[in-house]
Amino acid sequence: MLPSSIDENGTASARQHLLTIVIDDCVAIDAGCLAFSCSDLQRRQIRDVVLTHPHLDHIAGLPMFIDDLFSTLDEPIRVHATREMIDILERDIFNWSIYPKFSDLSNGSGPVIEYREFSLGEKFEVQKLNIHSVAVNHKVSASGFVISGSGSTIAITGDTGETDEFWQVCSRVPNLSAVLVECAFPDEYAELARVSHHLTPTGLASELKKLENAAVPVYIINIKPMFRDRVTAEIEAFKLPNVEVLEVGEAYEF
Ligand SMILES: [Zn+2]
Repeated sequence: MLPSSIDENGTASARQHLLTIVIDDCVAIDAGCLAFSCSDLQRRQIRDVVLTHPHLDHIAGLPMFIDDLFSTLDEPIRVHATREMIDILERDIFNWSIYPKFSDLSNGSGPVIEYREFSLGEKFEVQKLNIHSVAVNHKVSASGFVISGSGSTIAITGDTGETDEFWQVCSRVPNLSAVLVECAFPDEYAELARVSHHLTPTGLASELKKLENAAVPVYIINIKPMFRDRVTAEIEAFKLPNVEVLEVGEAYEF
């Protein structure tokens, strides 16, 4: 998970404002901070961006990533998204008002953006990864993913409130290596979490009961930066087995 802010010493902060998870240095899940904190290797190699949903904290770095690479791309940035997500990006972001409409532009090598549409529930391939989209419960077209590659499988909820299908799919995966689960707000903000379709620690504990293999390691992502310490403490108080907060900027091997 790429860092999205820096602390007063100029080093990466644990505060996670934006979400980008990079797999094998070449595929990005979401593009919240993609342009801002990826490595030079990742900048050279990432040409596939898979979106969980089009909220700003998940796409903010996409326009800048394409802008930065515009003159050097010899293949387009492939944005894997549902039709609804694509329509939102084209209407609300790449519209010449917020940012250039890259789908109308090309460099000397051809188009700089290419949309690859997937439907919620569909299975598709990106590079060497097999990705299974699973609809989750958010305020807009939103997908979780079960992602397999190199002999292991992980799952990512993206942003979601209470949901069922994602856990049913995860429960059917043999040898699931990890589940990355959102938990945005502390329990005091349960009503805000409910109306914005996010989880709190109490909601998280309830959701994890739906995962049939309780031994699967669970990593928490998408904690609102203001509440990081509180949410972490509340999750620890539940003493849930195999649950820890995913460290921003750390590389994990599955
Ligand atoms: Zn969201």
